Amino acid sequence: MIHPHTRIQFISDEMGYGVFATHFLPKGTITYVKDSLEMEITPEAFEGYTPEMQEVIEKYSYIDEKGIRIVSWDFAKYVNHCCNCNTMSTGYGFEIAIRDIQPGEQITDEYGIFNISREMELQCHHNNCRGRLSPNDFDAYYRQWDEQLQDALAKLLAVGQPLLPIIDPKSREEVMAYLQGKAPYRSVYSLKYFFQFASNGIGVRK
Ligand SMILES: [Zn+2]
Repeated sequence: MIHPHTRIQFISDEMGYGVFATHFLPKGTITYVKDSLEMEITPEAFEGYTPEMQEVIEKYSYIDEKGIRIVSWDFAKYVNHCCNCNTMSTGYGFEIAIRDIQPGEQITDEYGIFNISREMELQCHHNNCRGRLSPNDFDAYYRQWDEQLQDALAKLLAVGQPLLPIIDPKSREEVMAYLQGKAPYRSVYSLKYFFQFASNGIGVRK
């Protein structure tokens, strides 16, 4: 579920739609929660779809640490990637604003955490654009992402959090314990899915 203070907007034929903030969302705001309504497609179920449907699913899903493709039931699936993103997935089943987001600003994500199974060309037009999204990005960048995430998580209890009650109780308990210094930090690396590649190029579980 995407933060209530967001809306969907058409950007261009090239980019399609994007998600934009309607209010100021301070750093530390939970912007998306993987809730119990999300559609879950197992690797086996995915292989049963036609190539045309697989393309649609690939476009709108991310892959979790179990290899399951998650398709959001709301417009969270329209959040675009940016190499200078303003929100990022945590190891706790939610995404967080890693810097202040102004009203009207596009909400963007780090797709390197989404376990893509093959390289993807990027069109985020940012100065430091990586150009291509690679399955190797997870290993290359997770330390940097963890630094950004820990910095944002430190603000979690200091800002308004309409999505906090939506987080599943176990994950909520775990993040609270971390913030109180009673549990270790759960690295974003816990979201990495270890692929092996079938002959058709589709990643399947090891
Ligand atoms: Zn980029």
